[in-house]
Amino acid sequence: PPGGPSSTSQASMPADPSAESIAQRLAAVRAAVAQACAKADRSPSSVTLIAVSKHQPAAAIRAAYAAGHRDFGESYAKEFRDKHAALADLPDIRWHFIGHLQRNKMKWIVGQVQLHHAVDDMIGLDELTRRSYALGITQDVLLQVNLANEPSKRGCTEADLPVFADVLLRSPGLRWRGLMILPPNEGDPSPWFDRLAAWRERLQQTHHRALQAQKSSLDVLSMGMSGDFAAAIAAGATHVRVGTAIFGPRPPKSA
Ligand SMILES: *Cc1c(COP(=O)(O)O)cnc(C)c1O
Repeated sequence: PPGGPSSTSQASMPADPSAESIAQRLAAVRAAVAQACAKADRSPSSVTLIAVSKHQPAAAIRAAYAAGHRDFGESYAKEFRDKHAALADLPDIRWHFIGHLQRNKMKWIVGQVQLHHAVDDMIGLDELTRRSYALGITQDVLLQVNLANEPSKRGCTEADLPVFADVLLRSPGLRWRGLMILPPNEGDPSPWFDRLAAWRERLQQTHHRALQAQKSSLDVLSMGMSGDFAAAIAAGATHVRVGTAIFGPRPPKSA
């Protein structure tokens, strides 16, 4: 995978899912995050490392938890529901939902996750609002943006950003916290990271009153994965989503 010298390459990782190797890889990724922060003149506490545990067994999450990790990311609603139940004895674990959320599965997610990173269409946004409001909770959300207009990726286009911003800020039950991106797989991701960071700043300025009314501000930039988290941190990422560099290769999808 692409990545700077500080990123952990998949090729050098053993496919061993033991607790020990997870703890070792986690320590290496934490060190690389700290190094990227130092290089960018940022405090390490300004970046939340999310361990992306999709397709990994609950035991792998317990291993990372035992090594002191608390923030975990899941992409599939049913898988999240099952792991959330299996790990209910870990009270201070923080869940992040980072995948596309189908309407009929929102009931498993809303109110159960610290942050939903991937609001990606109006139908989903409507349903999320309805459910959060009905539960009487405030769900923190990010808007996923498809800056490169890739047909293979979800997220709102640049042209639609203002419309999504208006709807997000008029949605009771939701608190809009920032933006998320999955940049194109090919090429240097840094220009996309910079562009998302610029959008965050612009939207924060143009919408600061409405954000204030929602008791929010756009302080979250969710970008960067195993191959490019250092570049994302250089561009201002506040949340990096790292899977394989921590857990090793994902087991094949079951069902
Ligand atoms: C799987 C996934 C990741 C983690 O990818 P790795 O390359 O394994 O680090 C990050 N973000 C999203 C949205 C994902 O689906």
